[in-house]
Amino acid sequence: MNTPRIAVIGAGPGGLTCATILQKHGIAVTVHEADAAAEVRDQGGSLDLHADSGQLALKEAGLLESFFALSRPEGQEMRQYDAISGELGFHHVPDEDEAHRPEIERGVLRDMLLDSLTPGTVRWGHALRAVEGPSDGPRLLRFTDGTTTEADLVIGADGAWSPVRAAISAALPQYTGITFVEAWFHDADTRHPDIAEFVGNGSAIAGDGARGMFAQHNGGGHIRVYLIQRLALDWLAQAGLTHDDTEGIRAFLLDAYRDWAPGLRRVITDNDGRYLQRPINALLVPHIWEPSPTITLLGDAAHLMPPLGLGVNLAMLDALELALALAHNPVIDDALRAYEKTMIPRSHQTQTELDGRAADLMADDPFNAEDPQAHLNAQDNQPRPPAT
Ligand SMILES: Cc1cc2nc3c(=O)[nH]c(=O)nc-3n(C[C@H](O)[C@H](O)[C@H](O)COP(=O)(O)OP(=O)(O)OC[C@H]3O[C@@H](n4cnc5c(N)ncnc54)[C@H](O)[C@@H]3O)c2cc1C
Repeated sequence: MNTPRIAVIGAGPGGLTCATILQKHGIAVTVHEADAAAEVRDQGGSLDLHADSGQLALKEAGLLESFFALSRPEGQEMRQYDAISGELGFHHVPDEDEAHRPEIERGVLRDMLLDSLTPGTVRWGHALRAVEGPSDGPRLLRFTDGTTTEADLVIGADGAWSPVRAAISAALPQYTGITFVEAWFHDADTRHPDIAEFVGNGSAIAGDGARGMFAQHNGGGHIRVYLIQRLALDWLAQAGLTHDDTEGIRAFLLDAYRDWAPGLRRVITDNDGRYLQRPINALLVPHIWEPSPTITLLGDAAHLMPPLGLGVNLAMLDALELALALAHNPVIDDALRAYEKTMIPRSHQTQTELDGRAADLMADDPFNAEDPQAHLNAQDNQPRPPAT
């Protein structure tokens, strides 16, 4: 390659992993990120990185040892409660050396990736508005602050509502009909010991077929809970509520979960602060776009799916494969075709498997209670509840 100008849009896990591996192979890259700085936005909770995807990417990036030092293997604990009786059913306690899916905080993962990049690689506060210019390049990146820059290759790692995707595809995420209402418990071991005990070191789930709950012990003593239901996008307005009407939302939830065991309903009554709305969107299946010699996509920008525990791992696997394709093919177009030849069929298969599966998050038997071990031994590309 004749020093192509490579622009990654988005400093999420996918974009930063791609940039890190490109630099490891001596390839120059600039990352443009909408956030004003690394620390301005809460990155969210904990993620499990799988041995056959996220961890593979970190190994190529030379960060696997750092990941194991920063991750929480105890976070692989999983509990399933009966929603109505409150009894503990399935319970997996990880072995001491279990390293299949250790948990790491999103912010810790981002910092680890940022620290591995050449200083100045990320241009913060650069929200892309649109990609312009001829399909064979150079491309013009137009940012919301009015600035522009040129690139020979644009990698869209800019998430669900990707403006890069808009240059090659008309697809837009659609609401799945499922909403997570998010609640938090801070300093849980001290301030909410009963909730901390109920959740354990990892995750706890319950469902009755129409409502679900996913609780997770995050780093720093925080516990995050998702209350999962099928709701209209404007359910708050329909119920005469607003986002900051914490007591009104709590009353709504208590009514919806009225049949649940009192111990489980405490995640609705005892939480700290306001509830956050997380409507779950997905791209229609299959998501197909015209191949371009100057633009490609990875992660959620390419294949936004319901959050069943695969999104970050797929984004990092895409990033690994794209960076290696660019390192091993002297012509960018050849590299993109080689990358997409693997990534697109994999994404379509996984999208198809997960299509409409957001409702699994409310199932009363998500782990195949007959054979819970089957879940743990399953391939990593099997759906599972979210663990963010
Ligand atoms: C509620 C919920 C729970 C989830 N739980 C899990 C889980 O447990 N495990 C899992 O694997 N996945 C989970 N996911 C999915 C996971 O978050 C995504 O699949 C993953 O973050 C995708 O990574 P990415 O790098 O492609 O995109 P993102 O993480 O979305 O990163 C995109 C980056 O691009 C930036 N950006 C956006 N627009 C622009 C712009 N215009 N210009 C410049 N920069 C821009 C953003 O600020 C961000 O930094 C969950 C998702 C949700 C909604």
